Amino acid sequence: MKLEDIKVIGVVGAGVMGHGIAQVAARTGYDVVMVDVSEEVLKKAMELIESGPFGLRRLVEKGKMSEDEAKAVMARIRTSTSLEALKDADFIIEAVTEKADLKKKIFAELDRICKPETIIASNTSAIMISDLATAVERKDKFIGMHWFNPAPVMRLIEVIRGALTSDETFNITVELSKKMGKIPIEAGDGPGFFTTRFINSWLVEAVRLFEIGIAGIKEIDEMCKLAFGFPMGPFELMDLIGLDTALHIAEYLYNETKEPHYAAPNTLKKLVLSGYVGRKPGSRGGWYDYYGIER
Ligand code: NAD
Repeated sequence: MKLEDIKVIGVVGAGVMGHGIAQVAARTGYDVVMVDVSEEVLKKAMELIESGPFGLRRLVEKGKMSEDEAKAVMARIRTSTSLEALKDADFIIEAVTEKADLKKKIFAELDRICKPETIIASNTSAIMISDLATAVERKDKFIGMHWFNPAPVMRLIEVIRGALTSDETFNITVELSKKMGKIPIEAGDGPGFFTTRFINSWLVEAVRLFEIGIAGIKEIDEMCKLAFGFPMGPFELMDLIGLDTALHIAEYLYNETKEPHYAAPNTLKKLVLSGYVGRKPGSRGGWYDYYGIER
């Protein structure tokens, strides 16, 4: 397969990442089929693509896109609650919940449904690609394509080969990423690849330094921004991505590597167990809320 052979892109999972990926693919000119478990989730995803904080309306308002173009992008996205709708997709990007069993079940079904030449890419943040690839026969056409949030804005795509990913699949994924306006960089296949493993070390270290009283939460965030030019401190970042997600990643990396510096700090566990999972619906709040710190 060549890049020119890709006409239809499938996206499985229409959540935070999936809807953004679908938007980028459709904006590049691809026909997109976006699949999720319910019509309600898909409706919400389409609304976000149209008028969310990183959606098409914002681009029209900023003069970066015409009304007609925005309509054409929306018209290129079809939605479905059935994986069967992906039978004609040439390249599929999976962005469902970060659970290995769930992802493997979906990959096995896609392997059956899709054309033999279709490439299947996973947007997993941490699960080894060679592990996820055990679910499919087409291991040469299986790859990691790790996007960043928000997908329409962030430029990096971390591309990860499984042990049996072919050069052809790797090259097409790199070319496709570039065509979609992104900057692909290869990372090796290990738990968390580069970005997730690195960010986890940084986040848990910040919590440990807070726990032993080196500095307060707000002070650590401020120091990271002022000293290193980071756009956001580690506690602000955890509040944004979810303390539950940060905990899940730390536990996964620790379980897989048994390296103590990846282990989840006690305070992080305590907050998550108490319903403080960050600034998202249904949560009691994040670090700043639990400790009553003004933002
Ligand atoms: P999310 O919870 O916002 O979305 C996941 C979606 O998957 C939900 O809409 C859910 O309904 C759907 N889903 C669950 N089971 C399904 C099934 N059987 N068929 C179809 N859809 C199904 O999660 P997210 O933040 O978008 O994360 C998705 C993936 O992207 C995860 O692997 C995550 O690790 C990765 N990721 C997330 C971020 C981030 O910042 N949120 C960044 C990079 C990568």
